[in-house]
Amino acid sequence: MLPPLNRRHFLGATGLSAASLSALAIAAEEPRPIGASRPIVITSGGAQTAEIAMEMIKKGADPLDAVIAGVAIVEADPNEHSVGLGGTPNEDGVVELDAAVMHGKTHGGAGVAGLRNIVHPAAVARAVLKKTRHVLLVGDNALKFAREQGFPEADLTTEETRKAWLRWKEERLRGNRFPEPLALLDPTVRELATKPVHGTIHCSAIDTHGDMACVTTTSGLGYKVPGRVGDSPILGAGIYLDNTVGSCGSVGLGEVNLINCASYLVVENLRRGMKPKDAVVACCKRVVETSTLDPRFRDDHGRPNFNVNFYCLTKDGKFASANIHGPIRMTVHDGDSARSVDSATLFD
Ligand code: ASP
Repeated sequence: MLPPLNRRHFLGATGLSAASLSALAIAAEEPRPIGASRPIVITSGGAQTAEIAMEMIKKGADPLDAVIAGVAIVEADPNEHSVGLGGTPNEDGVVELDAAVMHGKTHGGAGVAGLRNIVHPAAVARAVLKKTRHVLLVGDNALKFAREQGFPEADLTTEETRKAWLRWKEERLRGNRFPEPLALLDPTVRELATKPVHGTIHCSAIDTHGDMACVTTTSGLGYKVPGRVGDSPILGAGIYLDNTVGSCGSVGLGEVNLINCASYLVVENLRRGMKPKDAVVACCKRVVETSTLDPRFRDDHGRPNFNVNFYCLTKDGKFASANIHGPIRMTVHDGDSARSVDSATLFD
């Protein structure tokens, strides 16, 4: 059997700060003995997320703790602008984070929405699950709860995201303001200021006992209306899991997933016997069919003017991803190594 996790080992594996590590310990489970099933991790993020989650699972961590640790490395990265520290702010220049978790064995789930000042919203969602009888906390009171639980506070804006937001705002206020010429901006700032940011990290896992867990974490749509909540913290929309069937998480325009209960639909497709690829492609088709009835979500040719990606893992370790405008890739760790796999695409 592998040795149990210890703090130093985890620190070495993740490269996370001591503050992040202590936040990640809040409401985490003790490791348990290793089982006989083959573990699998899938993520919309990169290899590091998958590797951290897999390493923890192999050491007996609860799969929920493993996926939360996997996404934490991205949440703490100031150069990753779709989650946590350095996430893209709202129209007021404030970062508001959404996240949710689901734990297969207990069919437990919880989320936080519009959470400010906390680098690891996914771990706060787990604390909501473990320390309350509730499923969703929002805004100032989600922050109050996080503070009470011992999560450290931080300014989530970085120099890069502040400059990009300012340039975005100056452009909208042209007439009153003199926007900095784009050519003078650092390329990353220019990109962030001019292209609405899309991105979210989803991670799903099966542990060595065949139990599943998943997490979705995001700073949501770039320059969103303050208070806007996307699909990521809403169970059934940007994340869903049934331990007897499988899991699904999503990245992309949250509004269309909210309208369609999209992640729930993928898991229900699996329950009805669809293969994972068919389950995610069918969901993409449904989202296109219904959402393009609404003029907000179609272009002049009637085609979807948005994108969504679905990442699905079945109880027996099969996986697939699909999106509307492709291509995208998904990272899969099968216990031996992490690799990037192609997704199915409806258009392009
Ligand atoms: N799904 C996220 C949201 O709508 C954003 C994204 O994945 O781009 O908040």
